[in-house]
Amino acid sequence: MKLSLLLKTHFGFDRFLPLQEEIVRHVLTGKDALVLMPTGGGKSLCYQLPALVLDGLTLVVSPLIALMKDQVDGLKANGIAAEVINSSLSGEEVVRIKAALQKGEIKLLYVAPERLALAGFRAFLRGLKISCLAVDEAHCISQWGHDFRPDYLNLKALREDFPLVGIVALTATATPRVCKDIADNLQLKEPRTFLSSFNRPNLHYDIRPKDNAFEELVGLLRLPRHKDRAVIVYCYSRKDTEALAEDLVARGFKAAAYHAGLEPKQRHAIQDRFIKDETPIIAATIAFGMGIDKSDIRLVVHYALPGSIEGYYQETGRAGRDGLPATCVLFYSYADKFKQEYFIAKIPDPLEKRRSTDKLNKIVAFCESYLCRRKFLLEYFGERYEQGNCACCDRCLRPKETFDADEIGRAVLECVRLTGGRFGGQYIVDILRGSRNERISKNGHERLLPHGGGRSYSEAQLKELIGLLMEKGLLVKAAGEYPVIELTAVGQALLNGAERLVLPQLRATAKAVSGKAGVAREPEVAGDDGLFEILRKLRKQLAEARGVPPFVIFADTALREMTRRLPRDEESFLAITGVGEQKLKWFGPAFIKKIEEYCAD
Ligand code: ADP
Ligand code: ZN
Repeated sequence: MKLSLLLKTHFGFDRFLPLQEEIVRHVLTGKDALVLMPTGGGKSLCYQLPALVLDGLTLVVSPLIALMKDQVDGLKANGIAAEVINSSLSGEEVVRIKAALQKGEIKLLYVAPERLALAGFRAFLRGLKISCLAVDEAHCISQWGHDFRPDYLNLKALREDFPLVGIVALTATATPRVCKDIADNLQLKEPRTFLSSFNRPNLHYDIRPKDNAFEELVGLLRLPRHKDRAVIVYCYSRKDTEALAEDLVARGFKAAAYHAGLEPKQRHAIQDRFIKDETPIIAATIAFGMGIDKSDIRLVVHYALPGSIEGYYQETGRAGRDGLPATCVLFYSYADKFKQEYFIAKIPDPLEKRRSTDKLNKIVAFCESYLCRRKFLLEYFGERYEQGNCACCDRCLRPKETFDADEIGRAVLECVRLTGGRFGGQYIVDILRGSRNERISKNGHERLLPHGGGRSYSEAQLKELIGLLMEKGLLVKAAGEYPVIELTAVGQALLNGAERLVLPQLRATAKAVSGKAGVAREPEVAGDDGLFEILRKLRKQLAEARGVPPFVIFADTALREMTRRLPRDEESFLAITGVGEQKLKWFGPAFIKKIEEYCAD
């Protein structure tokens, strides 16, 4: 059967997203695969579609109960036989599902990793015809990831239990270290690696100084494109989530706090109301989000500095999974770094402490960088980004003012060169400021030409300047344990050449920093907003009636497309992306009716 036909009939999609088709074809051959795709890249389809073609069962290991349930609900809404076995089920339900499995009636079974530690359950699985093993969020198996889950080590047994069955491991974390761990721990056999671009073109990255964060947040929430839409605000502590939620409620927003200290029942209820669009704004610690498959989150705010770029990328990645424009705002203050350091200081394992410090320094560098945010992120994950201006981040939309830094920049570079690249930043700054301290005198460095050449700059500005020169690749921190700065080949070339050095305006000298320059332009989504709201309401009713989240019925993209195309018969309704045969049958009539009514008005 043609894959594209299956894609339309069962999932309602007209074409594959990048790499999906190659991966599906590879999975169908029964060989191992490692799939690295950003959030929203469409990973699930890579094993769900093959499951329909393969003869036996596809076993999916996934870390979170809520996530599994959403996936299974979504599959069922597409008329696909899928089930989940986890601790939330009653004994009877488990018996029923097991019987169905033995009769070969089920195509996809979702299980949590801890299940695979149970010998009895593994014996049961061995009695089934399993044709594919899918490991979702596979980075959880690596201690180098940021989400290590010891339960994932249970998966090592899969290869022994099913030596001939292909494994497809999927993740949105692509650092080489993590990939190697995944392949090693799962004992993948010459896996083919599929690496899709980590660029999320629909996400608008915006990093703002944390001066008046609350009022700015209120402003963001009041924008028409965020009003009553799903929003996550990540806070630093449990207390902060509660205080913020309270403040937002006081300003008339429907908001709730979420953190790991709440009762499981309460947490569940909050998550549920969020998924069902009843409480659209969640002020949360990073405990929130991993189990959430909601595709229409329009705004993710970091109210405090995240601990790593991986974390930031993952948390912002929860926005706009439907591919429609979404915004990610981070309120940055250098002081937040100290809060994180306070935690890091408590980590007992020195290696882990090092790793965490490195990660923190990277995210600080990201916030302070004047490069395009997208370019910085992608390069962090080892991907090249050649486009000059992404037009969808604060740096590209509100470029920092620059100044002619030729004289001072050359003085700094010259100073590093003349002192032989053997000193740290403070020492270089002291020379430039014209200090005659003991060390400088002893080394005879007060006689160097650049000595005193930076008197008109403050110490902080000179340090910032060194940072900028490092970012430009003209200076570099030397390898080794001492914090020593060296001139790079590029820096040397600049010194020898005639190119004028231009740098972004230094913080202290910058005229009114244009932090409040407003929210940047975003492409508007065409279509009728009135109808969109009507369809959203209908979707919500249908979802409530079936006890599933709204996005299981249709994604926002599908509703938008309906408002543009106004389908009023089965054929045109089926042409909407996300409408397959099952959804046409179940939901088509109700939606067509609403659209007809609307058009008649
Ligand atoms: P990931 O697990 O990689 O974050 P998902 O599997 O949840 O991504 O898919 C992200 C979104 O993309 C979902 O809303 C899904 O329905 C949609 N999607 C997946 N494949 C396609 C496709 N071929 N065409 C259109 N939308 C798709
Ligand atoms: Zn950019």
